[in-house]
Amino acid sequence: MDSPTLELARALVRRPSITPKDAGCQTLLAERLSAAGFTVEELPFGEVSNLWARRGTAAPLLCFLGHTDVVPTGPESAWSHPPFQPVVEDGYLYGRGTADMKGSVAAFTTAVERFAASHPGHTGSVAVLITSDEEGPGVDGVRRVMETLGERNDFIDYCLVGEPSSHDTLGDEIKVGRRGSITGRLTVHGEQGHVAYPDAAFNPIHAAAPALAELIDIRWDEGDELFPPTTLQISNIHAGTGADNVIPGEAEVVFNLRYSPAITAAGIQERVGALLQRHRLPHTLEWRHSGSPFVTRGGALVEAISAAVERRTGSAPIRSTGGGTSDGRFVAPTGSEVVELGPVGATIHKVNERVAAADLDALSEIYEDILRRLLVDRSAGSY
Ligand SMILES: [Zn+2]
Repeated sequence: MDSPTLELARALVRRPSITPKDAGCQTLLAERLSAAGFTVEELPFGEVSNLWARRGTAAPLLCFLGHTDVVPTGPESAWSHPPFQPVVEDGYLYGRGTADMKGSVAAFTTAVERFAASHPGHTGSVAVLITSDEEGPGVDGVRRVMETLGERNDFIDYCLVGEPSSHDTLGDEIKVGRRGSITGRLTVHGEQGHVAYPDAAFNPIHAAAPALAELIDIRWDEGDELFPPTTLQISNIHAGTGADNVIPGEAEVVFNLRYSPAITAAGIQERVGALLQRHRLPHTLEWRHSGSPFVTRGGALVEAISAAVERRTGSAPIRSTGGGTSDGRFVAPTGSEVVELGPVGATIHKVNERVAAADLDALSEIYEDILRRLLVDRSAGSY
């Protein structure tokens, strides 16, 4: 028979909530949470469904953050089971969103249900924040909810993000921060002409090449104990008319930096700008900044998570800042401690996405242990 966590995970996977659709997931969660004594609010913005549920009014506030939307399935014929029909086989729950992240949403929902039942008079408050736009543009999701909470002075002390942080085994890794991300879109302006008459043209590829060589050689910083050094990758280069006898009039280069807190977005822009000036490159350059770096270097949340993981699995998690960005970036700037702990992420966004069914129950127990460590009077030693 399914455990309550597995049963809820299946119910969520059955709802085909491809971004920004929620397909009824949040209605189901709202019913469960209000039955557990939460005050539940829907906070829709545009096409995006958001759910804010809080139990208690006092500080500190521990908030579980997650999303009900999933990425598209790709060709369903490539799946061994239909992606929205959850199946357990060989101990794994298969289905789109099982690992990213309906499994952890189910795990923290059952954890807060058990916690509310066993500690009705807990200290502080528990909240659950869910969006249906984490995988998409992320404009009307957690970003907007945080604006609303900010207007009301609702401060989240501890934010536990359920994203699949684990690498090989449950809890082997937690994310305590993320690198920043900034993209440059460089257009080098040349003059089109015949390749046989280069003096009568200006080749933007030749002009750009030495500058790009210098750009990719920059050592931006050394990183620190939690962050690897900043990296730059050129992701697109495009130039040419298709003909082999024409010097193109323009070259376009797109590059992205994942940067550590040792440097800033403004510093990156200044350094790239100066390099292009030095190479006297006729150009235009547009920037898109999609997130500043953030990090929780220590504190009660990291300690509680590490201790709860170690108690369940026998070893404390590695603290990492690797991977892409997450909705934690919208919470961290308010000063909250933000840490990600979720299942193994090896199959996320792939066909045959899956999660070990036993890990969902273990994760739910770990989440409950974290609640006890942070919200049951620690001086009473009552857990
Ligand atoms: Zn996710």
